[in-house]
Amino acid sequence: MLSANMVELAYLLAAVLIIFALKGLASPESARRGNAFGMFGLGLAALVTLQMDSVQNYAWIVAAITVGGLFGGVAARKVPMTHMPQTVAFMHSLVGLAAVLIAVSAFLDPVAYGIANAEGGLYMASRVELFLGTFIGAITFTASLVAFGKLHGVLSGQPLVFSGQHMLNLVLGVLMIAAGVVFCVTGEALPFMVMLVIAMVLGVTLIVPIGGADMPVIVSMLNSYSGWAAAGIGFTLGNNMLIVAGALVGSSGAILSYIMCKAMNRSLFNVLLGGFGGEAATGASAGAIGQRPVHAGAAEDAAFLIRNARSVVIVPGYGLAVARAQHALKELVDKLLAMDVQVKFAIHPVAGRMPGHMNVLLAEADVPYDIVYEMDEINPEFGDTDVALVIGANDVINPAAKSDPASPIYGMPILDVIKAEHVVVIKRSLSPGYAGLDNDLFYMDKTMMLFDDAKKACESMLHTLD
Ligand code: NDP
Repeated sequence: MLSANMVELAYLLAAVLIIFALKGLASPESARRGNAFGMFGLGLAALVTLQMDSVQNYAWIVAAITVGGLFGGVAARKVPMTHMPQTVAFMHSLVGLAAVLIAVSAFLDPVAYGIANAEGGLYMASRVELFLGTFIGAITFTASLVAFGKLHGVLSGQPLVFSGQHMLNLVLGVLMIAAGVVFCVTGEALPFMVMLVIAMVLGVTLIVPIGGADMPVIVSMLNSYSGWAAAGIGFTLGNNMLIVAGALVGSSGAILSYIMCKAMNRSLFNVLLGGFGGEAATGASAGAIGQRPVHAGAAEDAAFLIRNARSVVIVPGYGLAVARAQHALKELVDKLLAMDVQVKFAIHPVAGRMPGHMNVLLAEADVPYDIVYEMDEINPEFGDTDVALVIGANDVINPAAKSDPASPIYGMPILDVIKAEHVVVIKRSLSPGYAGLDNDLFYMDKTMMLFDDAKKACESMLHTLD
């Protein structure tokens, strides 16, 4: 068995590895390396914990690791990339549930956890830690399950809004905290259980008004909650590794939620209050959608434009993911590169429906990283671009974000596609995107609309270039 100092040293090493993992995950090039650091760091922490003499029953642990490992291994192989957001939501619900179960067992047997005084009662500080770990874990558990249901289509993705909703959440929140305070003062079971049940209900009522398309922000926020729940339980267990890892997850999830909200020009508060994007097709601006003339073209026309261009910037959006067009697109890109056309990809931070959605799709199709550019890098180049080829994107190129102060997306940073000499937009119709807004870019003289499924359009263009 390792000495206490050696254990802390190993935990420190594991924490450093987890920090390297987070750093690595910040870019597609280093993400695999980052993942390896994370796996190694967490594996080390688990091994060090398992050899401690406080671990007395290995049979249960081996059984849990076998079942969990098998489930995780099979899921990782089987789950398609498009189901990643709901898989992540499901994983968060398990972290929340684990925090609740540990808190309940610590409450039932505080002596075993070393958090009881001489009379067997819970220390005051431990009560506060249990209160925090339990309610954050319980909210994370049920809220993540609802997020999973919405993303997987088991529950409706539409926001469920009713009058008095915010008041109900406020009352539930106040009651939960009141029960928690009573528990901290008395240490009794009844307020503990009341607090736990209300937190579980609150997890559901907080998430139902939020539309399916806003779920990625919520998933990232629940990721943050699950980290804080783990950190809270780390205090109860007196485990520094859990505190550090939980705080890292908690703060990185919070930062990611902030970055996503900023990229959508919405406050976290606006996302949390819900209702956004629910009435996409019937929103205020929807009445005029599709009423103006556009220049529609065929795949052959689009192929002619890109073949004769010096430079093409491709803007992928949610429609690329829906159509699963990434492989056909990669073939098209290879063809253009072979014809000496300069091709670059422009990625908006919230293109698609989850952070990094487009990067993941392009990586899946083996698109080289060095032709994939972030918004700030590529925007100055649109002025020198012959053709901007927009595939299944809408809001992230909507010029109203810059020019129309009355637009709900006014202020949202966009890709400056409008500055390219020609614009080709591939989508199936003039239907709006997630924000439910019409897009003036579609009606401009320089724009050619290619109305088709993204995959079919890419295949047809490829066929023309052959
Ligand atoms: P949008 O939702 O604005 O537009 C997607 C477009 O794809 C639609 O207009 C649709 O038009 C088209 N489309 C759908 N299916 C297909 C298909 N099979 N073939 C071709 N086109 C298709 O997507 P963007 O990526 O431009 O913008 C993302 C939006 O999502 C932003 O508003 C962002 O704020 C929001 N969001 C993003 C999050 C993230 O983490 N990335 C999180 C939360 C929200 P049509 O039906 O006519 O084909």
